[in-house]
Amino acid sequence: MSSSAPIALLSVYDKTGLLPFAKGLKELGFRLLGSGGTAKMIREAGMEIEDVSSITKAPEMLGGRVKTLHPAVHGGILSRDIESDLADLATNKISPITLVVCNLYPFVLQTQKPDCTLAGAIEEIDIGGVTLLRAAAKNHARVSIISSPSDYDVILSEWKQDSAISDATKRGLALKAFESTKAYDEAIADYFRKMYASVDSEKDLIAGAGVGYQRLPLRYGANPHQKPAQAFVEQGEMPVKILSGSPGYINLLDALNSWALVKELAEAFNPPLPAAASFKHVSPAGAAVGIPLDEREAQVFGVADIKDSLSPLASAYARARGADRMSSFGDFIALSHPVDAITARIINREVSDGVIAPGYEPEALDILSKKKGGKYCVLQMDANYVPPDIETRQVYGISLQQRRNDCKIDETLFQNIVTSNKDVSVASNLPIRPANHLPLIQLTKQAITDLTVATLALKYTQSNSVCYALNGAVIGLGAGQQSRIHCTRLAGDKADNWWLRHHPRVLALPFKKGTKRADKANAIDLFVTGQVFEADPSERAQWESLFDEVPAPLSKEERDEHMKQLTGVACASDAFFPFPDNVHRARKSGVQYLAAPGGSIMDAECIKTADNYGIVFAHTNLRLVSS
Ligand code: 5GP
Repeated sequence: MSSSAPIALLSVYDKTGLLPFAKGLKELGFRLLGSGGTAKMIREAGMEIEDVSSITKAPEMLGGRVKTLHPAVHGGILSRDIESDLADLATNKISPITLVVCNLYPFVLQTQKPDCTLAGAIEEIDIGGVTLLRAAAKNHARVSIISSPSDYDVILSEWKQDSAISDATKRGLALKAFESTKAYDEAIADYFRKMYASVDSEKDLIAGAGVGYQRLPLRYGANPHQKPAQAFVEQGEMPVKILSGSPGYINLLDALNSWALVKELAEAFNPPLPAAASFKHVSPAGAAVGIPLDEREAQVFGVADIKDSLSPLASAYARARGADRMSSFGDFIALSHPVDAITARIINREVSDGVIAPGYEPEALDILSKKKGGKYCVLQMDANYVPPDIETRQVYGISLQQRRNDCKIDETLFQNIVTSNKDVSVASNLPIRPANHLPLIQLTKQAITDLTVATLALKYTQSNSVCYALNGAVIGLGAGQQSRIHCTRLAGDKADNWWLRHHPRVLALPFKKGTKRADKANAIDLFVTGQVFEADPSERAQWESLFDEVPAPLSKEERDEHMKQLTGVACASDAFFPFPDNVHRARKSGVQYLAAPGGSIMDAECIKTADNYGIVFAHTNLRLVSS
């Protein structure tokens, strides 16, 4: 073998395909160097190979912890074809290395063994191999790094043909090596996160408190059979702390999405308004800002008994919870401001799974941490936490990455009013004034508030979605329908039910004393939708048993008369309206303000339909589709 023969350094844990590869390299004229076990296997197969120690002049030591970590190795890998590097090599009598073949100790396999100890796992952390991979990948302009046996054949055939490895292959190999060290380090970090950074017990909490901790163990994944489950951050401290209870995966999804919604909702107004959201299965059932409640609203939202002591935050939650009481049953709540005792008291009497907020007054925390026999989930969010710009998730093993949806939604979004009849204040008696003959109409503060609430709710709703809002609160939200008109109808039907719950006859329903809040909500829903009057006799009998006196159905005239009074509603859509049927349907639920992006070939038709109704339609230029 000539001294100028290209050098291949081999150090592999997984020795699959090693012998034929070594044989191929020898036939192509390579000088082979190997670490302990690798060299032994090749030598025993009758091939000539030198030990790495022959160039390091140092033995492997510390039971294999130090094998290839030496300037003679890393100088040979990292040197470039430049004068100063070549001079350094010559001075130190180091030969450049052309190929590095390396795969790592099986850390993951080791940690999966039922009897794996911490010491055993630590011994499987490869140090020198990772350094070989990184060094060779860094210098891929000159060096080829082969980290997988599946690439052995390509290397042999390229070298056979060109006595070199192409730049394209070297680039691909380098990327593969970096991916493999990344995955390796991720596995190690995950192991230590579970060992050292969990808050499974009070002891762990205290142990982790000094340096911050990064992981929350979750009860289970989306379903009870999906175990294990965890939430973690890769950098910095976990911004969510569990004050009580034990959240599951969906709880945390709801908590984080609803927190993002209320934080943005509160900040959309100047001065900021306390905001609340009631989430179910990763979409809002309700969301609202803290506008005071009148007598009737307090009655509809089930807080008439404490109306006078409601704080703005409590009003926000009462409105959010009151949007769709059926859907909010068992909700996850988000509150934009520290929770006071009165808000905690309202939460305490509802069926709910958990709450997230930036803080809790001591009395509020005391109330909430006793709810559900101590199982109620109380989370504290760091209000200053800013998530990274890029978000990644995996679907079916494939990583998907995108910029986080950080678009700002505030009043400036609703300035492009596209309806031609600008003088809407005359046409439909709306409280809107033309702004000094400018082409833009200045919407009322109320309309802007409601459009902001509706649009922000859509940002955190599974698409397709359409939302109706009034008095600073969602009143109907249609989520996750494949057809837009189905969303508009669903949201409209919910808004209608919400409004019918304000009917004097509903407010006076003669419930028996002691009827539970959830039973009342179900019974009212059956009443306002009229379904109970077409129901099976057994269901109807059950419904009737809740009342001192059985109520008569709402007549068509009563409904029509009441529905006429629903006006001034705002409606937003997360993508354009493809047909004017959406505008027709929205109008039936008292919609006078619409906001949606343009872009449909039917835009003109939709605008014309809005004009015919005297609806003010703002094109937002902002699509908010989410999944
Ligand atoms: P061998 O079977 O040749 O004795 O060892 C091969 C393994 O050692 C490879 O998985 C390689 O990543 C790893 N390795 C190479 N150099 C070092 C080193 O200096 N320290 C440690 N801990 N592992 C090394």
